Amino acid sequence: DDRVVTGSATNFDESFELSLRPQNLQQYIGQQKVKKNLKIFIEAAKMREESLDHVLLYGPPGLGKTTLAAVIANEMGVNIRMTSGPAIERPGDLAAILSDLEPGDVLFIDEIHRLPRSIEEVLYPAMEDYCLDIVVGKGPTARSVRLDLPPFTLVGATTRSGALSAPLRDRFGVLLRLDYYDEEALAEIVKRSSSLFDVAIDDQASVELARRSRGTPRIANRLLKRVRDYAQVIGDGAITIDLSKTALELLQVDPLGLDHIDRKLMETMIERFRGGPVGLDTIAASIGEESMTIEDVYEPYLMQIGFIQRTPRGRMATAPAYEHFGYSYPSET
Ligand code: ATP
Repeated sequence: DDRVVTGSATNFDESFELSLRPQNLQQYIGQQKVKKNLKIFIEAAKMREESLDHVLLYGPPGLGKTTLAAVIANEMGVNIRMTSGPAIERPGDLAAILSDLEPGDVLFIDEIHRLPRSIEEVLYPAMEDYCLDIVVGKGPTARSVRLDLPPFTLVGATTRSGALSAPLRDRFGVLLRLDYYDEEALAEIVKRSSSLFDVAIDDQASVELARRSRGTPRIANRLLKRVRDYAQVIGDGAITIDLSKTALELLQVDPLGLDHIDRKLMETMIERFRGGPVGLDTIAASIGEESMTIEDVYEPYLMQIGFIQRTPRGRMATAPAYEHFGYSYPSET
């Protein structure tokens, strides 16, 4: 996935993203409701001198789940250990990680919905009673041994809370949903990142970048980085509104943050399927993408801005989508 406007991380994001990561709740911009809840839970756990309850973070990619997990550990004054669902292949992998934790530590599991079921089962007693049931020996002499673990906080992240098994979901005491950021918060993130990059940016330009970032901090930072290059080469290094607009046009990111794939998707719905309703699989086959990619990556933002509507009979393109892509909306007669 090499789109400029994808919420998923690309290989180029990693190093500069680390330097832009907020360290504590105060630096973490937006997501007021989530922060307000977390602040109370963290304070309460600290007062009781207990580890924080297990936390499940869910929402589209690039909204700051990994960042927030690190912030939680920082605020609790503990270490964080990071891994991901697909990285844990055998129960022993998980056992090794868990038995290595210090009391109170945060274990972050990204893409937790991709944990194999056999591993989930090891996780249940670990989450509930801080212990591991391990089978030692083979055949008739095999027996189960119980290992005690230090109390810890599991922070799980997923793009789809519905993909989590019910028993796993039920073991999280705190469920927090991250939403797309509003323009104001994103503009603030752009300004914060520019100052960390030591680049001057005017207010209008930061709003323009915010507007084209699909509600996603990762995209905002990525666009900023590209526009900064442009400002250095073409301008005098400062990011102005005119310069941003030219650069974003060159990057083929339209004023709503949509790119050629969004356009292709919407045009296919409008032209070939008369705006729908059309099934997800049919759309996927027509544009040569996987249904899951459309559902997880492209569609959420198009739904968020009201361009696609989900109906029991399939997806429909809405009037604003027709208008944005230059079609006239068929009037009902
Ligand atoms: P994924 O699920 O794909 O790993 P994520 O939701 O974990 O994505 P992060 O890696 O935490 O996303 O965030 C992406 C980048 O966006 C971070 O490097 C950080 O700089 C920035 N960022 C995220 N949230 C915020 C925020 N609330 N305030 C400021 N910057 C943020």
